[in-house]
Amino acid sequence: MSPEALIHAAAFRRALLAWYDAARRDLPWRTTPTFYRVWISEVMLQQTRVEAVIPYYHRFLDRFPDVAALAAAPEQEVLAAWSGLGYYSRARSLHKAAKTIAATGLPATYDAVHALPGVGPYTAAAVASIALNLPHAAIDGNVIRVVSRLTNDAAEVSLPAVRRRFAAHAESLLDRGRPGDFNQAMMELGATVCLPRAPRCPACPVSRFCSARMAGTERELPVKIGKPAARDVTLDLVRLEDRKRIFLIQRPAAERRLADFWELPERKALTGIRVRLAGEFSHRIVNDRLSVKVWKARPPRTLPPGQWFDQLQLASIPLTTITRKALQLTASN
Ligand code: SF4
Repeated sequence: MSPEALIHAAAFRRALLAWYDAARRDLPWRTTPTFYRVWISEVMLQQTRVEAVIPYYHRFLDRFPDVAALAAAPEQEVLAAWSGLGYYSRARSLHKAAKTIAATGLPATYDAVHALPGVGPYTAAAVASIALNLPHAAIDGNVIRVVSRLTNDAAEVSLPAVRRRFAAHAESLLDRGRPGDFNQAMMELGATVCLPRAPRCPACPVSRFCSARMAGTERELPVKIGKPAARDVTLDLVRLEDRKRIFLIQRPAAERRLADFWELPERKALTGIRVRLAGEFSHRIVNDRLSVKVWKARPPRTLPPGQWFDQLQLASIPLTTITRKALQLTASN
């Protein structure tokens, strides 16, 4: 880096961290940033908003207060505690990783964190910097957006070479004395100020370092080639109830998504039933827009392979988010 660039980076860090120290959100995993707490929060935050994660984080920590408790729990219990958060492979990987840590001890390097099941480069950098104070820049979508604007770089951000360039820039800005705070400050800036559609530039602590702001191009960045169009999918589920017990079927263990989770049967899997509509809702899974209809019916003589569950049992098995929503919606009508 040239002397000018070094001075520029140092002033940028100072401005960003001063803002973060004053304005950072009071999030539960920030109060005691132990390895376990930071790791759990970062895995939960993958593809999930902060506000949605907070109640799950508290419940999960109550149920599994440390690595040993998580490692010793049956997988079904871990999945049940995760129910509703989605992307369940995260919970399975977390559980596997807890067993590894319980056997070998806490990781102490970036590479050891990265080697844990379910931990990619972003999560490894976030955990290593926040919990272990190691100097690694964490690059997520927020940070890519901020860097594309700081540098006024209109390259297509899904290209690997472009991501590498943005990552290298973020790495050059990283405060090596406070890497965890720096990473959180960059993410916080992206989540609360440098917003995707409407960046709040007048309130931005680093606006004087921002080339896109100076060029008036901040709303055009980052450049992304369009995603594939969403698919519309309809789903008809049936709530079969008998003496307050609900009939559910289990997804096969070999399913790529939500293996072993329990769900309401689809209408097409049942014969000889008379149904009445009990509720409807929409649900989004990655690129699918689902219109879900929930029907009620008396149990037919012949049922597909499945099991009856009372209310107490329902609370302790992994339910798909769609089933959870469907049961709540049709509990009283
Ligand atoms: Fe983002 Fe605007 Fe700040 Fe630039 S000045 S980093 S575009 S919020």
